[in-house]
Amino acid sequence: MTSSRGPNSRGPNSRGRVELVCVGDELLVGDVLNGNAAWLGDKLCRAGLPVAAVVTVGDDVDEIAAALLAASARAEVVVVTGGLGPTSDDVTREGLAAAAVVPLLRDAEVEAGLERWYAERDLSMPGLVLRQADVPRGATVVPNPRGTAPGLRMELATAMVYVLPGVPAEMTSMAERHVLPEIVSRAGRPGPSVQRVVRVALEGEPVVASRPEWRDDAEGIRIGYLAEPGEVRVRVTGRDAAAVTRVAKQAAVLLGPAAFTEDDDTLDAVVHRLLAERNATVAVAESLTGGLLAAALTAAPGSSATFRGGLTAYATDVKGSDLGVDEALLAAEGPVDPDVARQMASGVRERFGATYGLATTGVAGPEPVGERPVGTVFVAMDGPRGRALASRRLTGDRDRIRRLTVIHALDLLRRHLVGLPAYDPGDEIGQ
Ligand code: ATP
Repeated sequence: MTSSRGPNSRGPNSRGRVELVCVGDELLVGDVLNGNAAWLGDKLCRAGLPVAAVVTVGDDVDEIAAALLAASARAEVVVVTGGLGPTSDDVTREGLAAAAVVPLLRDAEVEAGLERWYAERDLSMPGLVLRQADVPRGATVVPNPRGTAPGLRMELATAMVYVLPGVPAEMTSMAERHVLPEIVSRAGRPGPSVQRVVRVALEGEPVVASRPEWRDDAEGIRIGYLAEPGEVRVRVTGRDAAAVTRVAKQAAVLLGPAAFTEDDDTLDAVVHRLLAERNATVAVAESLTGGLLAAALTAAPGSSATFRGGLTAYATDVKGSDLGVDEALLAAEGPVDPDVARQMASGVRERFGATYGLATTGVAGPEPVGERPVGTVFVAMDGPRGRALASRRLTGDRDRIRRLTVIHALDLLRRHLVGLPAYDPGDEIGQ
């Protein structure tokens, strides 16, 4: 979701509008995710030319021609990816020729280049490969340093159309070397956009997006929201770096303790930095998260300075034998219990000689554990300045519950380290 129309918003038929056309049956049937659109979208946005629309079509001449005609009627620049290879299902050049109503002509220079490419590798050139030397009349060639299929550029209606191969490594190198610089200089933009990303833990997108004032504060600033389980990213984009920084800071202040970065840092990286600044370490005892918390705490480079180690104490008896959780407590309450979580945290802290102990226990599902329903989660922290506990009733499938538990654990420690109270959505589990 994106709010607020700044100068980067371009309606149909406006100057500076960029559209993408991605070609490939594999994209339509879900075999391949459209990484090319994501990569181009990011690069163009950073260059101050955010993509206005992405259209995906299959390997079909008529569909490609129709998509190109529609996009070139609206946009100033159209970037096409895919369907430039040698096989019979690669028909993007035919689609471009059909849209422009021009013939395909064999380009002698490209043909010679293809022959050289095969000769240099001592390979015989399959006849099909020469299709790649067919260029719609009026188009020029964009060199491909990484493969055999050259790209194309051609004026169509009022737009400049760039056609690049689908193979990501080829597409990105050609875009970086030739196409993006050309697009930017053609557009004559004053300078690239800058962006800052405020990340917010454990608040839903509607809660974050409904926070007040700052959204419309500055001219030319765009705010976008991206929600993931347990986290919302608030992206602030604009051309004026000082205004972007000011709005991001304002957003972080208004969003309160849930906002943990203005620089797009991950939650684990923030925890690592906070621990490192304090010369502190952490050790983890994990039940339902099965090592995911340890993986998160070792994701940041240099985490050996802050992460002591972890124990995946999955079986109930291991919580007693290896972490010192009271056997009578385990027998009476079972493994999913707030005091079990607390004792796991203090047990691992002591055994691993860490400044802080962090523990998770709960029911990831799909079956309940004793009286405890699926989604019941207890996360505990034990440290030199005290202890903290989060008791949650999480929703979703097993994977989501485990991931959310990791975020709850990381956030519990983060808040403690910066002297904030633990996240409190109200009493979810009466104890
Ligand atoms: P080739 O010379 O390999 O035939 P091409 O230009 O014809 O190149 P495609 O055949 O469309 O490209 O795609 C080649 C490979 O690139 C595909 O198998 C796919 O994995 C990948 N690919 C194509 N389009 C995309 C895309 N939009 N995003 C990510 N990957 C893509």
